[in-house]
Amino acid sequence: MKTIGLIGGMSWESTTTYYQLINQEVKSQLGGLHSAKIVLVSVDFAEIEVYQHNDEWDKAAQVLIDAAQSLESAGADFIAIATNTMHKVADQVAESVSIPLLHIADATGEALQAAGITKVGLLGTAFTMEQAFYKQRITDKFDVEVVVPNGVQRKLVHEVIYQELCQGVMTKRSKADYETIIDDMHEVGAEGVILGCTEIGMLVDESSSSLPIFDTTKIHAKALVKAALEA
Ligand code: GLU
Repeated sequence: MKTIGLIGGMSWESTTTYYQLINQEVKSQLGGLHSAKIVLVSVDFAEIEVYQHNDEWDKAAQVLIDAAQSLESAGADFIAIATNTMHKVADQVAESVSIPLLHIADATGEALQAAGITKVGLLGTAFTMEQAFYKQRITDKFDVEVVVPNGVQRKLVHEVIYQELCQGVMTKRSKADYETIIDDMHEVGAEGVILGCTEIGMLVDESSSSLPIFDTTKIHAKALVKAALEA
């Protein structure tokens, strides 16, 4: 089994989910007492969040580069950034180490393609919903059209992520708001919705969504285990 190098803490709420999902998947594939080989560097998200909102992406990238290099030194065979948003600097992080980086949008694009989705809704931070680094990759590499909520809705989705979900707070009101936004994307022809923020799965699930859900935390965790168990 290969060793997974995880850059976590963005937020730690979803890193705990990654840790559980990765181990559950290894157990379900190998059985018995098997568990995943993981090295984790967990950063301080308060520091990252300030860099994000001040548009200081190079500083945020440097924190992740330091983390990636620590993981490589600690024996990781490949690395993963356990958040969608910070994939904005994924190329810089990947170039700083000699081991591969498993990109969350690639794992998600593969899942969309496998499900035959050609048009998908995207929920995530404003950075993820509004900038090209994530949407464009899904469209260019996987030929899937990506639609996002309107401006007012994007602001709401973004604020709920930082003010509630990343702080472990789930409210009925935000769940209902997210479900309404998913309904609206359904109406404009989306065939599924990407939970493109690793905390949204704590709030929304298949049972209450009008669209099939592509939860990036689950998809990424599964892809990491697949890579770890490949010969
Ligand atoms: N975990 C979230 C994501 O997947 C938001 C935290 C962050 O900004 O990195 O985008």
